[in-house]
Amino acid sequence: MKKKIAVIGSGFSGLSAAAYASKEGHEVHLFEKNNDIGGRARNFKTDNGYIFDMGPSWYWMPDIIESFFEEFNRKASDFYTLVPLDPQFEMVFSDGVMQIPHHYGEMKDLFEKTEPGAGKMLDRFMEDAQYKYETGMKDFVNKPCHSWWEFVSPKIAKSALKLDLLTNFQSFVRKYFTHPKLIVLMEFPVIFLGAAPKDIPALYSLMNYGGYKLGTWYPMGGFSKIIDAMKEIAVEQGTIINCNSNVEKIIVKNNKVSGLIVNQKEINFDTIIASSDYHHTETKLLPEEFRNYNEKYWEKRTFAPSCLIYYIGCKEKIPNLKHHTLFFENDLDLHTEEIYTDKKWPTKPLFYACCPSKTDPSVAPENSENLFLLMPVATGIEDNEEIREIYFNQMISRLEKHTGTSDLISKIEYKKSYCIKDFKEDYNAYQGNAYGLANTLSQTAVLKPSLRNKKLKNLFYTGQLTVPGPGVPPSIISGKIAAHEATKN
Ligand SMILES: Cc1cc2nc3c(=O)[nH]c(=O)nc-3n(C[C@H](O)[C@H](O)[C@H](O)COP(=O)(O)OP(=O)(O)OC[C@H]3O[C@@H](n4cnc5c(N)ncnc54)[C@H](O)[C@@H]3O)c2cc1C
Repeated sequence: MKKKIAVIGSGFSGLSAAAYASKEGHEVHLFEKNNDIGGRARNFKTDNGYIFDMGPSWYWMPDIIESFFEEFNRKASDFYTLVPLDPQFEMVFSDGVMQIPHHYGEMKDLFEKTEPGAGKMLDRFMEDAQYKYETGMKDFVNKPCHSWWEFVSPKIAKSALKLDLLTNFQSFVRKYFTHPKLIVLMEFPVIFLGAAPKDIPALYSLMNYGGYKLGTWYPMGGFSKIIDAMKEIAVEQGTIINCNSNVEKIIVKNNKVSGLIVNQKEINFDTIIASSDYHHTETKLLPEEFRNYNEKYWEKRTFAPSCLIYYIGCKEKIPNLKHHTLFFENDLDLHTEEIYTDKKWPTKPLFYACCPSKTDPSVAPENSENLFLLMPVATGIEDNEEIREIYFNQMISRLEKHTGTSDLISKIEYKKSYCIKDFKEDYNAYQGNAYGLANTLSQTAVLKPSLRNKKLKNLFYTGQLTVPGPGVPPSIISGKIAAHEATKN
């Protein structure tokens, strides 16, 4: 039966859910509160010619993103050009830098040079990580996770041990490598998963495979090219997209969702897929008696970090800077403790600089540089312009030291900060989270917030706070699973 379906939110998960539900022949209306689509992956243009991606900048797991396009008989290359980054990125340590090459053979040489024997160990690590990637990203990840029974199969039983769900990532990495720089290098990708390496299952070495082995890519024109492509596909399939459309309420009648209040107007729907932040959807849009979780539940969750971001337009080229640079001169463990345990502004932060104009001239005026600085911070802490500025100055002076430049501040012709307050205001993000829930073992699969409402049969959730988790590829998959669940009856 053809249903009238509403999707709340236009990030990767919302666009994906809308495209898949439309493909099934349903009438799909997508509502986005902001004036443009993309959610955390929006971009903005400045009057003086800079185009800033607001969120994601690491294009990893290209095969997973490609499979979205394939399901609509399209290719990513119909919409944008992907280029490999070589080096993939640079890491700045207190005693020098390390460049991570695109080609695996060169990466092995680097490992071997840093720690004799580590080249061979990298092969073994990647062989194991590939298995986890194939099983995790192509099988496990597509499950709606209503019950553990979904995971009961001879194939999964056979693979359970090899997936290392019960080993933590920190000790797993140390079985292969001993050099502190190699350890930090291998642990860095799981920071994306929103918890300290000691709290993340070793299953997630699949991230090292999906990143380092498959390479780090960049979509020319920026990440919004993926958003534009997904929008085009959703619209082609029949989705009607409405921006500046704030969903104020999910209406429940006779124990069923009957529609939405959007910009003070009631609209009837048969089914709702909410990709807005889960906590916001439940506590602000839904009457209390129909919520899956109460406030105590959310207080007990481990959230992935928020972050302090600076979008900077620099009117001169910055020498000695790569597309991606990780400033890891300080201790990773101390910074993660301050994010997850102490929940305070970091004393000796690590940060990340992205300079896409090194690869893509379209994102900055000629002879200028587009710079994005990101420092992970705890969710829910005090946030104001004065605090942000202290860290801005620290990041700039470390950038100057690394690039051998001086007085970068006088060359800045555009500057905008973004932090906890903005995540709350722009995306209704619980405690200003940037990356959703941490992928700890106790927040994996069936233990994540449920994809369906347990009391209302026609309400579903999607996005980085439910299965399979945070990140661009998982959010796209989340939309697909939610659309399937919402349309299958
Ligand atoms: C700074 C940053 C850097 C990142 N870097 C990377 C990276 O390099 N690689 C990677 O893979 N991932 C990265 N991520 C993670 C990735 O971007 C996210 O996991 C993904 O974009 C989440 O998509 P989503 O659809 O779940 O949520 P969102 O993008 O937040 O979409 C939800 C949408 O719902 C809308 N909404 C909320 N409430 C309402 C309402 N009441 N009415 C209407 N609309 C509403 C919001 O405005 C928003 O547009 C990054 C995230 C951030 C923030």
